[in-house]
Amino acid sequence: MSQILPEHLSLWAYGLIVGAIILIRYALFAGIGFGVLRLFPKRAARRRISPVPVTRKQMWREAGYSVLTVAVFAAVFTAVFYAARDWGWFYIYRDASAYGWVWYALSLPAAVLIHDFYFYWAHRLMHLPGIYDRVHKVHHLSVNPTPLAAFAFHPVEAVIESLSFVIVVSAMPIHTSMLMHFAAYMMATNVMGHLGYEMFPRGFARSKWLGWLMTATCHNQHHRTYRYNYGLYTVIWDRLFGTIHPQYEALYDRITEDAGEAAEESGTPVLTQ
Ligand SMILES: [Zn+2]
Ligand SMILES: [Zn+2]
Repeated sequence: MSQILPEHLSLWAYGLIVGAIILIRYALFAGIGFGVLRLFPKRAARRRISPVPVTRKQMWREAGYSVLTVAVFAAVFTAVFYAARDWGWFYIYRDASAYGWVWYALSLPAAVLIHDFYFYWAHRLMHLPGIYDRVHKVHHLSVNPTPLAAFAFHPVEAVIESLSFVIVVSAMPIHTSMLMHFAAYMMATNVMGHLGYEMFPRGFARSKWLGWLMTATCHNQHHRTYRYNYGLYTVIWDRLFGTIHPQYEALYDRITEDAGEAAEESGTPVLTQ
């Protein structure tokens, strides 16, 4: 397998670099999440999903646990890169044409689907009594989460989440650049899910083509109800295994349908009382 860990760097130095990249990516995407809300203030004002107030203390807690998660991810990912370099483990490669360009392109959706399936079941199991109180409760302390909650996990959950990466690089060949795209897509979806505001268009949740993708409404509903909607990237497994919230589409419709928006989209001013 390819060499993705430079020879001249010590393991500690490499671990720090990996940690810095994960931390910057987390901060950048969470920042983009807040930035989108500032960029579209009218839409955000109409599209607040939950009435539960967000506190400053909550945001500090979300950021604190997320930094802990970054440390756990950095340790696990560095170990994977080390094992790939020194022991030839895992299918991470650097020559983009090694498995053909078709696979190069397909490896991203394949990695996302593997991660989505793993996340769904790991998440569902973490809601079992006994495990929930000890581990997953930390994430659910945010009843109405913010983008900072994207990595707000108990360290044990951080280890469980990091295993998805180990499974992907064990199950299929993936190019180093695709690993970066995969991580970026994961972060974007994760931040979007915790946005607290539904910025996607009306009809999205019921769309034949896009309705299988995760929405902020769907994951916010999970944080409020503690049951249903366990997916990360998609609602495929929730629909397949019967755990989609029975009111998901109705809630989505209610959050996204209002006269002001219809007027904005059609260009016709609507008089409101
Ligand atoms: Zn949960
Ligand atoms: Zn969450």
